[in-house]
Amino acid sequence: MGEKEKLFRRGIAEIKPYVPGKPIEDVQRELGLTEVIKLASNENPLGPSPKALQAMHAALETANIYPDGACTELAQKLGAKLNVDPSWIVFANGEDNIITLISKTFLNEGEEMIMADPSFSSFEISARAVGAKVVMVPVRPDFTTDLGALAAAITDRTKLIFLCNPNNPTGTISTRKEVEAFLDKVPEHTIVVLDEAYKEFVDDPEYPDGLNYVRAGRNVIVSRTFSKIYGLAGLRIGYAIGHPDFIGGMKRIREAFAANRIGQAGALAALDDDEFVKRVHDMNSAGRDYLYKEFERLGLPYVKSQTNFILVDTKQDIKRVFQDLQREGIIIRPGHIWNLPTYARVTVGTPEQNEKFIRALEKVLGL
Ligand SMILES: *Cc1c(COP(=O)(O)O)cnc(C)c1O
Repeated sequence: MGEKEKLFRRGIAEIKPYVPGKPIEDVQRELGLTEVIKLASNENPLGPSPKALQAMHAALETANIYPDGACTELAQKLGAKLNVDPSWIVFANGEDNIITLISKTFLNEGEEMIMADPSFSSFEISARAVGAKVVMVPVRPDFTTDLGALAAAITDRTKLIFLCNPNNPTGTISTRKEVEAFLDKVPEHTIVVLDEAYKEFVDDPEYPDGLNYVRAGRNVIVSRTFSKIYGLAGLRIGYAIGHPDFIGGMKRIREAFAANRIGQAGALAALDDDEFVKRVHDMNSAGRDYLYKEFERLGLPYVKSQTNFILVDTKQDIKRVFQDLQREGIIIRPGHIWNLPTYARVTVGTPEQNEKFIRALEKVLGL
């Protein structure tokens, strides 16, 4: 530890930094490439919803004015759409910020947070940042989340459980039956956060809507985002839905203007664009089927996904494959960050991007 790092709060120096998907601009600069396809951060390949784009252009004119920190209009509109009272919703600077806010609101130093391994690394970072103890529960051999083991890990010090459904990076879901059996085992002193960032991509009818558990009065908070199916990742709008007591606590420590003005305008308009959501969903489902077929042709094992990304086993050193793919103008997420040294997590792109990816993959793997 460096001299100055000793001044950090306890535990901060031990946190492994978040590894984001490599930005397109970096790869262009480093390798002198003009055309680069990023399939590393589960971004929407169709861009933002056209309705959102138009609203955001207009909102730029008032960028000198602070946003409405409470996101009153957005909460009303989203509440009406989801049949939830607006007082049960809090918005922040992306769902990532919501996750931080949840850890800050509920976790005391020394209390335990349980999550699956692998799952979304923000859960771990946010909990460690407030001095909580992180308990990791490995996924099953088929990569589904082991809810039985998660429940078995609960102690009288467990305050939070982050359950990512569908899970990132595995793409798998926990079914309604599994989630309900799990919730029945969760004690009163424990809050379950259902991260539903990818819910709109799910096709499996066994997938549960977490809002049902919020409405039923369970200790459940649902967190969601406009970054994925709505294509607004750069605008940073995420939200949580829960009992107003939970949400009220989060609102007390939320940054005053966490959700920016342009993003709010975009999200508001995006909520009207059901046609866009359907188009993204349908293209994604078809893209998944195409990639499955190609992986099978190439003899590469993969995990069936309910999201806009797929975990695939390249059966070669993924660090090398990652570098070689980059030279072909394709950025994927290498699996070694989740201790999966031959796996890649690849975002489903447009049909053209998917074909380019498969051609590059074939070449790089020597298949
Ligand atoms: C992308 C993602 C989020 C949300 O991202 P924001 O852009 O911060 O809203 C949250 N959880 C998971 C699991 C994700 O993959």
